[in-house]
Amino acid sequence: MSQHVVVVGRGLAGAIVAWKFAERGCRISWWGDGEPGASRVAAGMYNPVSFRRVVEVWNASAHVANLRSTLQAMEEAFGLQGALMHDVPVVKVFANDAYRQTWNERWATDHGVTQWADRGQSAEVLEITSLNAPHGVGKVHAAGWVDVPALLDAMEAHVAAHHTLVDRAWRVHDGLPDGADVVVDCRGVGAVKELSEVGLKVNPNHGDVLTLSTEAGALQTQGHNVNNGKWLLPMRQQNGRQWWRLGATYSWDRPTPAPHAPAAQALKDHMADAFHEGAGHAWDKAQVEAHQAGLRPASPDRRPMVGPWPGQPEGVLMLNGLGTRGVLVGPAAAEALVNYWLDDAPISPEIRPDRFKSVRTRFPD
Ligand SMILES: Cc1cc2nc3c(=O)[nH]c(=O)nc-3n(C[C@H](O)[C@H](O)[C@H](O)COP(=O)(O)OP(=O)(O)OC[C@H]3O[C@@H](n4cnc5c(N)ncnc54)[C@H](O)[C@@H]3O)c2cc1C
Repeated sequence: MSQHVVVVGRGLAGAIVAWKFAERGCRISWWGDGEPGASRVAAGMYNPVSFRRVVEVWNASAHVANLRSTLQAMEEAFGLQGALMHDVPVVKVFANDAYRQTWNERWATDHGVTQWADRGQSAEVLEITSLNAPHGVGKVHAAGWVDVPALLDAMEAHVAAHHTLVDRAWRVHDGLPDGADVVVDCRGVGAVKELSEVGLKVNPNHGDVLTLSTEAGALQTQGHNVNNGKWLLPMRQQNGRQWWRLGATYSWDRPTPAPHAPAAQALKDHMADAFHEGAGHAWDKAQVEAHQAGLRPASPDRRPMVGPWPGQPEGVLMLNGLGTRGVLVGPAAAEALVNYWLDDAPISPEIRPDRFKSVRTRFPD
């Protein structure tokens, strides 16, 4: 008999966990409370390079590989080939010569980051004519974005057709639902209070993001995502206009998913610096089509929390703490959880909830 898995939370974490259990032949009930969550506003970008120190992000190779194979399988199953995952390279605009030097030194030492990126160069060499980048740019070729809202819609339709979609809330005190072999808590910031009671901190991190449109061809980035501390992601052309997403803000002291009105102008002003004077005029005329915001579920060490729910009976599991990089981290984290439950495979101590001393002191075993 196949196992019956209840997955709670209809965001990215829940979608990937449900997908991975279903791939292994389990029956899925996917529960949600109807609230939109962070995943509905996420830009969905993935990038194996951390720009702060010019290093690979944690577990980059394994995470990129898992993301690619997972999204390919989902696209095929949903008949959405090429529609969910988009390869879009990033150009990092160097702030000064010291940063360019740090970037280029990675090639002298054959650093792991060099497999994902190119040496510093001028924007003109890449034929990006709109940028004001006197110190040059660094290109990350192995980056892109996932259309997370489209993925969620497709997964909901798939579960409604082949499994069970349930509009219902759950709290950890509800325990294992009747008839379920296992329940996986993927409630993001919806679980914050209950997690804090067992010594686990998921901090809500508020982020604003804009959707903009400009006249097609008015800004020339040659299909690159431009990063100057904020990012400008080209999405699609429609009715003679280029659509972009611009983001994001990061705030620890705004515990609400409501858009913060001043953030819109602040994001536009920041990105204006990336363009030279001529392009700046086109940028000023960009239309704001939408301003959205959400709360990222962030863990203190920026790694997900994957495994048994502390203090709960066997069969109550969690995947939380996807933070700012849920797209890159989520598929591998979900797979670790599924392999733990179905195959008894150990979960890496790097991601188990009991890696935090605050949990181990409450639950010593
Ligand atoms: C502005 C912004 C931009 C972002 N851009 C990126 C990006 O480019 N790349 C990237 O990788 N990440 C990005 N993120 C982060 C990304 O959104 C998160 O990592 C990811 O979406 C978290 O998914 P989740 O499923 O854990 O949480 P959520 O998406 O918040 O989903 C949790 C779900 O659980 C439901 N729920 C809560 N309580 C209950 C309950 N009691 N019962 C039932 N259901 C419940 C909620 O309604 C919600 O639907 C961004 C986030 C923001 C805010």
